[in-house]
Amino acid sequence: MKDFYIIANLKMNKSIVESKIYLNLLKENIQNFNNKIVICPSSISLFYFANEIQGMKLGIQDIDHREQGQGTGSISASQVKDICEFAIVGHSERRQTFFENNKTISEKLQMLWKNNMTPIFCIGENQEVRNKGFKAIEKHINKQLRDSLFEDSKWENLLVAYEPIWAIGTGLSASPEQASEVISLIHETVKEISGGIDVPILYGGSVNEENHLDFQNEEKINGLLIGSACLDPITFSKIINNS
Ligand code: PEP
Repeated sequence: MKDFYIIANLKMNKSIVESKIYLNLLKENIQNFNNKIVICPSSISLFYFANEIQGMKLGIQDIDHREQGQGTGSISASQVKDICEFAIVGHSERRQTFFENNKTISEKLQMLWKNNMTPIFCIGENQEVRNKGFKAIEKHINKQLRDSLFEDSKWENLLVAYEPIWAIGTGLSASPEQASEVISLIHETVKEISGGIDVPILYGGSVNEENHLDFQNEEKINGLLIGSACLDPITFSKIINNS
């Protein structure tokens, strides 16, 4: 059976105390460890999670594009590589709020690979592009991939997450068919850039307790990146247990 990833992006939620309660409840309620579970808490709680997260993997929600030094408020891959295996990069909230572009994201990918970490590289179109039809989506996705990935990328250490912006945090998920259509395109484009290597491609955008199996049943979808529905540890553990 191929690995299936279930990744929690806790975003800017939970204090240190709340994070401890969250992880305890998650551990008490998860019975199914068949899939790869990755938790990306706020950076303030990373160290606690690192010591307590048995059976699951740890990810940071973003990293700086530089190695170290003059980056007030930032965290570099080299600072967290000892405790984090994964890092989300290119999340649409970073692209929009912090004006991150494909070049910066490409630098972040390089920095993660240099530090033996695995990027969860997020891409996806906004509503305006979606309204223009599949050709426009294809062009957008192609550019995001080709601006950040190159033939010599570290393909064995890469997860790509297709996260249509219109589906994130809106409660309006893509349909499994819509997700699969773009994810098939991503698989093909990755193989073109890499010279034949495929990587796991995940879906993210309003996945919840009711719809997660619909995505999981799609052959081309290799995992889920979950925001809102991971905030309640009981709901999230149900998703994990049913997967
Ligand atoms: C996300 O922000 O990565 C995400 C998938 O959020 P949500 O599940 O809330 O749409």
